[in-house]
Amino acid sequence: MNFDNILLDKVKSMKPSGIRKFFDLADSIEGCISLGVGEPDFKTPWHIRQAAIESLQKGMTRYTSNAGLMELREEVSIYMERRFGLKYDPKSQVVITVGGSEGLDAVIRTVIGPEDEVIIPEPSFVCYSPLTILAGGKPVNLPTYEKDNFKINPEVLKNAITPKTKLLILPYPNNPTGALMTAKDYEEIAKVLSGTNIIVLADEIYAELCYNTDKPNSFACTPGMYDRTIIVNGFSKTYAMTGWRMGFVCGPKEILGSTLKIHQYGIMSAPTTSQYGAIEALRNGDEDIEEMKMHYNMRRRYLLDSFSSMGIPCFEPLGAFYVFPNVSKFAPTSEEFCTDFLNKQKVAVVPGNAFGENGEGFVRISYAYSMEHLKKAMDRLDKYINHNT
Ligand code: PMP
Repeated sequence: MNFDNILLDKVKSMKPSGIRKFFDLADSIEGCISLGVGEPDFKTPWHIRQAAIESLQKGMTRYTSNAGLMELREEVSIYMERRFGLKYDPKSQVVITVGGSEGLDAVIRTVIGPEDEVIIPEPSFVCYSPLTILAGGKPVNLPTYEKDNFKINPEVLKNAITPKTKLLILPYPNNPTGALMTAKDYEEIAKVLSGTNIIVLADEIYAELCYNTDKPNSFACTPGMYDRTIIVNGFSKTYAMTGWRMGFVCGPKEILGSTLKIHQYGIMSAPTTSQYGAIEALRNGDEDIEEMKMHYNMRRRYLLDSFSSMGIPCFEPLGAFYVFPNVSKFAPTSEEFCTDFLNKQKVAVVPGNAFGENGEGFVRISYAYSMEHLKKAMDRLDKYINHNT
């Protein structure tokens, strides 16, 4: 067999995720502490697990409707109204997906084809560009800068738009920078988009994890933007449910009807047991979010204080569970910093350029780890930075 002829060029040239690459290396080092994984260290709250177990005990083990259990879509709809003031019809404007990941893929494949340009802020989560390429489209990087607290600069956005631009990804709160866009910031983005036919895919998977407010924000709340916004959200980060693979998409019925076809043929329906857990999460999970958020916030403050006492510059991230310190004065490249730090102090962090060229000079540190774990890592960072060991 000549497999080389069989594989698609666009898949062959796809780089494996820079996050994983680094962690495979770290795994092979004994006693290594990782600050790399973007996954809550908490267990899924017990009442959510119990609801899923009960559904199994009752024998609820069949496919659900393609879009997901109506009961769950109704809960999503209630949640979106309760937390964001946004109304979505559970019959035509909500699809339950296999994590936010499947939602992102299905939406991009719904609207993107050859020649279509997708504007992707950078640095950001690793999947948007490969998914765009797989759909046949062209990723257009939109650099964001430390001096702007890694928010989108409306002028830079304006310059990135061409007649071929079809989709703008809005990934806030942001992975890896922890940046937030406020309602006011979004209004500036809306001004740039009004009068165009550009649609917005808002990856709001970290919406509940913002530390300057109790009320999460969505781009769809921006005046005039509801009709052109497709929201991807999910349960992985909010309720510590990464392994359940539960996400949802909300948006205009004209788009979601087609996204549902892609989901139907590729997935059939999201896992039934997980859907029962998700119903419980939405009904009774608010206190769990508050509790986890309180811990994340304590850790966030601890890391920022540690950086400040070590002389490591870091803008204050207000969302998600990442900090993105600037390490450019300690090493020629992010990758060299990470490799040297790993070799000398056995701590693994992710080079910023794993999230796009614009992340060069920075590293991503996740605080989805216990305080004890973080303290150990900060002691080692101090030794590395200030005692060159
Ligand atoms: N979007 C962002 C910004 C993420 O960080 C992640 C997970 N790291 C996802 C989407 C996908 O999450 P999931 O598929 O578990 O919902």
